Amino acid sequence: MTRRVSATDASVRTVLGRILLVLLAYGGVLLLLGGLEEYHAIDVLLLVGLPMLLSAWSFGFWGALVGTLASLGVSLPFVPPDQYSLVLWAGGGYLVVGLGLALWRRWKNPAVKRMRPGTQLVFKRSLNFALMIDHEGQVLESNDRAGEVYGAPRRIWEFFHPDDQARVREELERASLRGEAGPLKLRTVSQSKELIPVELKFVRLEPTRQSRLLLEMRDLSALAELENKVREAQARYRYLIEDAIDTLDTGILLLDKERKVIWANRTLEKFLGVDREEMPGLEVRRALASAKPLFQDLNDFEKVIACESAPFVFTLRRNDGEDERILEYRSLPVSTERYKGGRIDHFIDITEKQRLERILQEKTQRLEESNRKLEEFTHVVSHDLKEPLRTMAVFTQYLIDDYGSQLDEEAQDYLNRIHRASLRMRHMIDDLLKLSSIGTRQENLEKLALSEVIEQLREDLKARLENVALIVPSTWPTVYANRTRMIELFGNLISNAIKYNDKPEKRVELSWTSQGAFYHFTVRDNGIGIEERYLNKVFELFERLNPRDDYESTGAGLAICKRIVEEYGGRIWVESKVGEGSAFHFTLPIQVQTPSRNGAAPVLVGQAH
Ligand code: ADP
Repeated sequence: MTRRVSATDASVRTVLGRILLVLLAYGGVLLLLGGLEEYHAIDVLLLVGLPMLLSAWSFGFWGALVGTLASLGVSLPFVPPDQYSLVLWAGGGYLVVGLGLALWRRWKNPAVKRMRPGTQLVFKRSLNFALMIDHEGQVLESNDRAGEVYGAPRRIWEFFHPDDQARVREELERASLRGEAGPLKLRTVSQSKELIPVELKFVRLEPTRQSRLLLEMRDLSALAELENKVREAQARYRYLIEDAIDTLDTGILLLDKERKVIWANRTLEKFLGVDREEMPGLEVRRALASAKPLFQDLNDFEKVIACESAPFVFTLRRNDGEDERILEYRSLPVSTERYKGGRIDHFIDITEKQRLERILQEKTQRLEESNRKLEEFTHVVSHDLKEPLRTMAVFTQYLIDDYGSQLDEEAQDYLNRIHRASLRMRHMIDDLLKLSSIGTRQENLEKLALSEVIEQLREDLKARLENVALIVPSTWPTVYANRTRMIELFGNLISNAIKYNDKPEKRVELSWTSQGAFYHFTVRDNGIGIEERYLNKVFELFERLNPRDDYESTGAGLAICKRIVEEYGGRIWVESKVGEGSAFHFTLPIQVQTPSRNGAAPVLVGQAH
């Protein structure tokens, strides 16, 4: 934009300069005429002829015409009236001479000089190389840029690459004949012997065959350099990708839409024992022919050849004498423009994965078996243990009832102790059974509103809850869980909160929040509290801090709670201050795994209601 404005300004300046020059010439002539003492028509006419010639020289035909009229006008006041006819003759003569001068100049001057000043400037200052030449390739005028780079050659072929010179002549010939030639790309050589690729064009300036031509050339070196860089970058990128794909564990086979191999990676070569260098261009059956004997099942080979779209697993024999290889085959359509209709086949080595899966499966089976046996054993043992215990309890009771009066106080006390111990042992066995059953058996899960669990517990613990302020939140979340387990969990904690409380106004407060992926429940009491050193110990089996006469207190309740919470993927802990009370906290994931050994689908989605 700026360039165009300045070109226009320059051309305006040139025109104004010339007008000024002509006016000055007329002014000079007038001064001279004013200084004459005597006027002879011939002198006057000769004098006014000079600026007219200048005008014709500067402005061509129009200059001649206007100059003639101006000169006549200027001369009239100085020519005696009886010689006016001479003025007319002189006017005719001026015109002829002026027109002749303009014509001669036009014929003599190179085309560029005849251009309008603005156009001339465009030619001179163009960023492209521009040369005015004749039909034989002789350089008449070069623009600044061409001069800078190619100097002052006489003929245009001098600055073309020797291999391209013949072509330039042909094109020049063509342009002289047809008026135009190009664009075409050729190589030129600069003054400093640098190779400059150009895109060039010839344009004939006049209609005749032998007229002048404009040769315009665009410098392509920057473009060529850029193209080289892009090509280099592309090549580097391609090698990088190829290297990356080559080092994959997965065999890759790229096929075109006619099922011909475009490319295969090194891993495929290793898996199928083929030579990938020989594969490109071959139809897939031919390309993989040497791998056919390795397929344990030939149907699998056919499926690979057919690019079966559903993934499948197949076994390959190995020629290196090692164990067979298990591969998963996946064939995907290629949707990129270049290979549209083609396919990319993946051969994924799953031998190790399958081996690990098999081991895991065997281990799980063994574990399930041993769990089952353990459960059977626990049942049998506990049943067998309970039987003699029941006998002990019954017969000690008979002794107390029937013969108690015949025994002294000490003997009665012994009997009572044996009786209570047998009852406690029965409870311990029951708790043990309960604990061992958690997580070993598939449990029924249901969408459970915890509010129902709390309601049921209120009912079950009615007697114990007398004189206890039980504070519960107004809403409870819904969880997928086993009802019995939730009753055991909440029940144990609430019972303990009542049991281990010596305050006249007992208070048990339940609350919950949701924190991230977990629900966080709290059972808080104002009871006796727990010493800090026992805070973890209370969750251990049969751990009792306050041995009581109560045979139902086996020290298994919190161990059971811990097992339940952990089975659901949560955590349980306690905060306490001796004399002030305890707060038992536990979390249950809002989405938890099924608390079973069999790893069923994830369940338990909670929501408050
Ligand atoms: P237990 O059958 O003895 O109640 P638990 O496993 O439920 O067995 O509790 C273990 C011990 O932890 C209890 O004997 C008691 O000493 C202590 N304990 C449990 N809950 C509380 C509580 N809320 N406040 C104080 N001590 C508690």
